[in-house]
Amino acid sequence: MRIKIVGAAGGEVTGSAYYVQTKDANVLVDAGLFQGGKKSEAKNRLPSGVNLSKLDAVLLTHAHLDHTGRVPLLIKHGYTGLIYATAATIELTELILQDSARLQVHEAERANRTRNFSRQGPVEPLYSPEDVVPFSQMTQAVSFGEPVHVAEGISARWIEAGHILGSASIELTITEDRRSWTVLFSGDLGPIGRPINRDFERPNRADIVFLESTYGDRDHRSYSDTVAEFEELVKQAAEVRGKILVPTFAIGRAQLMLYHLAIMFHRGVVKPFHVYLDSPMAIEASKEMVTHPELFDEELLEWKSHGLLPLDKAWFHASVTARDSQSLNDVEGPCLILAGAGMCNGGRILHHLRHGLLRDNTHVLIVGYQARGSVGRRLVDGAKSVSIFGEKISVRAKVNTLGGFSAHADQSDLLKWFTPLAASRPQIILTHGEDVPRKKLSAAIQERFGLRSQLPSQGNIVEISAPLITPQAVAS
Ligand SMILES: [Zn+2]
Repeated sequence: MRIKIVGAAGGEVTGSAYYVQTKDANVLVDAGLFQGGKKSEAKNRLPSGVNLSKLDAVLLTHAHLDHTGRVPLLIKHGYTGLIYATAATIELTELILQDSARLQVHEAERANRTRNFSRQGPVEPLYSPEDVVPFSQMTQAVSFGEPVHVAEGISARWIEAGHILGSASIELTITEDRRSWTVLFSGDLGPIGRPINRDFERPNRADIVFLESTYGDRDHRSYSDTVAEFEELVKQAAEVRGKILVPTFAIGRAQLMLYHLAIMFHRGVVKPFHVYLDSPMAIEASKEMVTHPELFDEELLEWKSHGLLPLDKAWFHASVTARDSQSLNDVEGPCLILAGAGMCNGGRILHHLRHGLLRDNTHVLIVGYQARGSVGRRLVDGAKSVSIFGEKISVRAKVNTLGGFSAHADQSDLLKWFTPLAASRPQIILTHGEDVPRKKLSAAIQERFGLRSQLPSQGNIVEISAPLITPQAVAS
């Protein structure tokens, strides 16, 4: 049995994909898109070494593009097998992939406008909306906690990961030549105790663990401090009648920010002002969310019981069309605009930043992870100017980072998730993190549990051959 790491390794946080191969079966866990700049995006190809004609199943941990964005590429190149995920993940993934395909076509068109065809030839989009059409027919919804036979000798179980709606860790039970292993892919893990999503569940045994390490080097500010800081920033912006721009991932963060704004307005912390959800995908995702109350945590259920759902139309506006979005340029503050992409590496937020960064009464609130190479990362790092659509834009706006709103577990939460697994002394492979967070998480695991971790590069293969349980135990 071998597992090839075909994304989110070697210091990369995006492009998650793992190719699990046994003598009898081949399974891909996640097929994410690389994001965050040209260098990363150049890796957006079919995962190397994956033979699509021999691929038995694709299993998805959650809907985010950096875990699902290469699925249409698999379909485009001939994959026709099943794609397994939780029902909420399937619904959200379809939205995300449609959006991604439109963006790919749009980006190719934009590149071709300035390209010298005679020398370079036209740019082809990575995939287009037609490649997403078969997706819904290929999916198989799974329930949390119930093992599913996905290929010969491989069963899979989805375990709540507390990251976004429908997100899961995936536990594979793999049998080959009468030997058996439990392989656990953490997927993206959410922070403990945040509103809206349930907290992660902690699996208690594994032979091999692939653990994400996005924030493996630090702890977030306490959530109550983050909410207090958010309220303070919103009040300040409201006083100077500024625009608050919040780059958000369409699923999870956008709804979390709306949740806190609704509570602030309800409690009278600040007089209600206009809030625009400027993302067709986030609008659709919000609609999907309310169809899954079984996945709500107690805070959201309470919020619902107080009549705060649906949101008050007096202040909440869904901005669907491009014209709706453009009209926001002329809207006076105070107002708040939530728009994608979450890392400011595309999408409508770039138009708002292009207008807003020049003004000193604009507040940019960074509430999610910003990958190296993205405009968002440059803003976080205090750049005096950024390049948007090839234009140099001076940054006069105030940029604030609210790390506590992250949808990722911090170091303490990652260690809490891992604690019940430590007794089985698994082989640990740290992925989905830049070098410093991975190394620091590795050191923390070593110190706390006396276990060494592997920090692989992309393309590394984890080879497993020694029997981990006896043949008799498998047979019984
Ligand atoms: Zn994610």
